[in-house]
Amino acid sequence: MKNIKEYNLDELKEELEQLGEKKYRAEQIFKWIYVDKVKSFDEMTNLPLELREKLKIEYTMCNFNILKKQESADGTKKYLFDVLDGNAIETVLMQYHHGKTICVSSQIGCKMGCKFCASTGIKFVRSLTAGEIVEQILAVEQDIQDKISNIVFMGIGEPFDNYENVMKAIKIINNQKGLNIGARHISVSTSGLVPMIYKFADEELQCTLSISLHATNDEKRSEMMPINNRYKISELMEACKYYIKKTNKRISFEYALAKDNNDNLKDARELVKLLKGMLCHVNLIPINKIENGSYSKSSNENIIKFRDYLNDNGIVATIRRELGSDIDAACGQLRRKNLKQE
Ligand code: SAH
Repeated sequence: MKNIKEYNLDELKEELEQLGEKKYRAEQIFKWIYVDKVKSFDEMTNLPLELREKLKIEYTMCNFNILKKQESADGTKKYLFDVLDGNAIETVLMQYHHGKTICVSSQIGCKMGCKFCASTGIKFVRSLTAGEIVEQILAVEQDIQDKISNIVFMGIGEPFDNYENVMKAIKIINNQKGLNIGARHISVSTSGLVPMIYKFADEELQCTLSISLHATNDEKRSEMMPINNRYKISELMEACKYYIKKTNKRISFEYALAKDNNDNLKDARELVKLLKGMLCHVNLIPINKIENGSYSKSSNENIIKFRDYLNDNGIVATIRRELGSDIDAACGQLRRKNLKQE
């Protein structure tokens, strides 16, 4: 059966036409799903009964079941969703004073193999469909009975390794007649799939692009992130410059500070050299130690020193607040959990 959440409004209109129905029915259905957030066709009370029955035969609503929900002392919530095929994914809700943010997963597992990330070392299963990405947001909003203001593609998976579905999901999330979350409130984070950065730049969306940089020279970056063997830092920087030129938007560089690895002043100096003059911002993440991981967190003192050095030398840098670390919901801590192992 087809998932009704795979369609943007225009596509839904086409679907309805194919069913021999009027296009305006698509608008009604779209509103029920994304504005009223109903979970069944039966609740779409302005549709004729006959149409509701027809829809039930043709489409599923793809409502994820919550297998587990954990709440952190800081209000962060981590959801383990049953994606209805025997697999499960994690989605995180973070509460900031400026609003609520959802960190969505884009794949079941990840192929990138970053050494410091908990998604590494588990089998890659498949990419999520656009509808499954969108459903993470709907399921959280239904659970908390509140509206989300920001989306970050920073959960499990590499969004640019699932490029088409991620773009499709962004367009559905964006639709003013639906969830209506503006592109400026959506961030996509990549480990650095260079060709996709060019492609993303050409979309001319207003989304924020985050680049997981984490090191300033190829030797160190390749050691931490195997993707660097495919695309070297110089190629990555070229792509970033193209993105900035094309979109006139600032890039956010993620830099996870690991003790005695990439956190001394020499690294900070190299980072300044690498980013000098670029329209960018550096997001420093105190690295979260993962099970059996070889990287551990820098001292607070070091993190502050690192940030101050960047700021003093013309690179805007902030330290990311650590949310949800007590429930393994912080950056890089998410793991795909197989239903059968639960
Ligand atoms: N694959 C994408 C998005 C998922 S990871 C990417 O690599 O960007 C989201 C962010 O968390 C990335 O910046 C990633 O490098 C970072 N991250 C992964 N593991 C981490 C850890 N153990 N501690 C801190 N940050 C981590």
